[in-house]
Amino acid sequence: MPRFWDPDGTRYGGIPTYPWQMAPDGYLTRRQLRAAGLRPGGQPVAAQILWQSRRLGVRAAYLYRRELALPVRPMTPAKAAALALAMRARRTCPDCRRDAGYVLPARYGTCLPCADGLPLAA
Ligand SMILES: [Zn+2]
Repeated sequence: MPRFWDPDGTRYGGIPTYPWQMAPDGYLTRRQLRAAGLRPGGQPVAAQILWQSRRLGVRAAYLYRRELALPVRPMTPAKAAALALAMRARRTCPDCRRDAGYVLPARYGTCLPCADGLPLAA
């Protein structure tokens, strides 16, 4: 039996423990959940991976159960509104005060009609 093989959690801190790369399917680290668009969602640590690092001693990675994970929190309305406001500011020309409909080119700092000195088509 490999070192750190303890699915019943009787030897290593009371949670199921597996050696590196031997965790069962459906158990993911926080980083792996994130890559799948998920977050632990308040569930407790379900298992751990232990391995021996030559430099750092015994290391642990905590695992969560995929079926208990929740989608990453979507943007709140307040956050979306703040972002929309910031984007509008980047589209608003300081010369004619109009929303140009595109982010103003940094090299002009104004909308294109103002930069060209052409009259605006109302
Ligand atoms: Zn303008």
